[in-house]
Amino acid sequence: MSQIPTYVTGVPNGTEKGLYLAVDLGGTNFRVCSIQLNGDTTFNLIQSKVAIPKELMVAKTAKELFAFLAKQIELFLKTHHEDRFAAHIRRRQTASTPEGYRDEHIFRLGFTFSFPIHQIGINRGTLMRWTKGFDIPDAVGQDVCALLQKEIDALHLPVRVAALVNDTVGTLMARSYTSPGKTGTLLGAIFGTGTNGAYVEKLSAVTKSMEGDFDKSTGEMVINTEWGSFDNNLKVLPTTPYDAQLDRDSVNPGIQMFEKRISGMFLGEILRIALTTMMKKPDVSLFADANSSHNDYRSTTTIDETSCLFTQWAVDSSILSIAEADNSVGLRALRQEIEKSLGVSAASIEDAQAVKEIAHAVAKRAARLSGAAIGAIVIHTGRLNPGASGVPGPKSAAAITEDIKNLKISEAVSATANKLADTAGLAVNEDEIVDIGVDGSLVEFYPGFEDYMRDALRILPEIGAAGERRIRIGIAKDGSGVGAALIALVAAKME
Ligand code: ADP
Repeated sequence: MSQIPTYVTGVPNGTEKGLYLAVDLGGTNFRVCSIQLNGDTTFNLIQSKVAIPKELMVAKTAKELFAFLAKQIELFLKTHHEDRFAAHIRRRQTASTPEGYRDEHIFRLGFTFSFPIHQIGINRGTLMRWTKGFDIPDAVGQDVCALLQKEIDALHLPVRVAALVNDTVGTLMARSYTSPGKTGTLLGAIFGTGTNGAYVEKLSAVTKSMEGDFDKSTGEMVINTEWGSFDNNLKVLPTTPYDAQLDRDSVNPGIQMFEKRISGMFLGEILRIALTTMMKKPDVSLFADANSSHNDYRSTTTIDETSCLFTQWAVDSSILSIAEADNSVGLRALRQEIEKSLGVSAASIEDAQAVKEIAHAVAKRAARLSGAAIGAIVIHTGRLNPGASGVPGPKSAAAITEDIKNLKISEAVSATANKLADTAGLAVNEDEIVDIGVDGSLVEFYPGFEDYMRDALRILPEIGAAGERRIRIGIAKDGSGVGAALIALVAAKME
């Protein structure tokens, strides 16, 4: 895996304070926000969002795009931070220093830039290539922070681009700031359009050479795993014919193989391929009922010619969540969704049951593989047994009940032990918690996604039921806002 050092050398503990700016250039929108960190795990966020004009995505020069971004920052400051902005202008007019401003007036800004970057310092990184419909050739190879700073300076704004932020690292930082735990968050992970994770590694374990300056005193370095590309070469993941077809017909065959089994961008397509494959089988009757019961009247199942079923990438993953959530006898909600998003009218209950079963298998596998990724980081970092190399600490109640269960005296005893373990699980000592922050529609909205991740964690021998109970997984919203602000804060300390 890529295992990219991020130059972020620690995670926050919730006491951080100050007013910071964050901007996020994702795909379609540019977001500007200011974040007031209150120092008590809470924050206040103001944000504005603007669509990026299509012509700027393919502008002749990088300057055109970055000047537009700087202009949005100026607008935001004038609208929401007029006092500080006005103080800065007054100061500029009377100041004798060349820059004309006071350091305390300067906003530190975290720049979330979701395109492939070769990062060479906390606020330095060159663009490797554009994706998502952007194409401005002269920007490739340039430092995107310097490009933005140049246009900010041209407008004389009191803003310093302090950090270049990866959204997964932002998730880790945001969770660590807001997490109720005493220990910092270990891992930030995204399960949305794509999937990726960033975790806290011992600096001594990082073997990659690092060009830029960074604070070595913490002995830690946040690593961006880029785990979406796991298995590009090894080919160890079990593959179904549907995975093989998806990969073959994708724009990047053989690439992002782990992500292709996990993230929102692909799950709808796996479902679509599985359904259309089944429809072609002579011995399977799917969406072919001549006399199906639907919405309390009888009619023939028909498939719209322009159905998403026949269009690559057209099935949105959210249908998997609807299928999982509908446990009614008649699967009415799911049948409505099949009509709306698959273009199949009057699908039978059996059809809906088939869709539900396949969708369940696709999503459950995604969640268990996600759990495997989390488990790998937990095991690799040794966070569950930090005393492993020294004197072992006292066993927790959960660990003891796990030991009892492993004796397998009888099923009855084991059932009691399970109950005990559940009770003990509720009382896991705060110091023993391993905290993980997650973000993304899949983990947020698919019913039971976390439960399946936990199933996978439990069956790993190095983690087990006792270890799984000590892993706390919480949603970390707004990595590109509060997370980016926190990285700007870390960076500002190093100036
Ligand atoms: P992003 O990762 O782009 O920041 P999201 O976290 O919202 O944004 O993820 C969007 C992806 O999640 C899309 O691929 C979409 O199909 C999928 N998605 C959105 N809602 C759901 C849902 N309810 N259940 C499953 N997948 C969903």
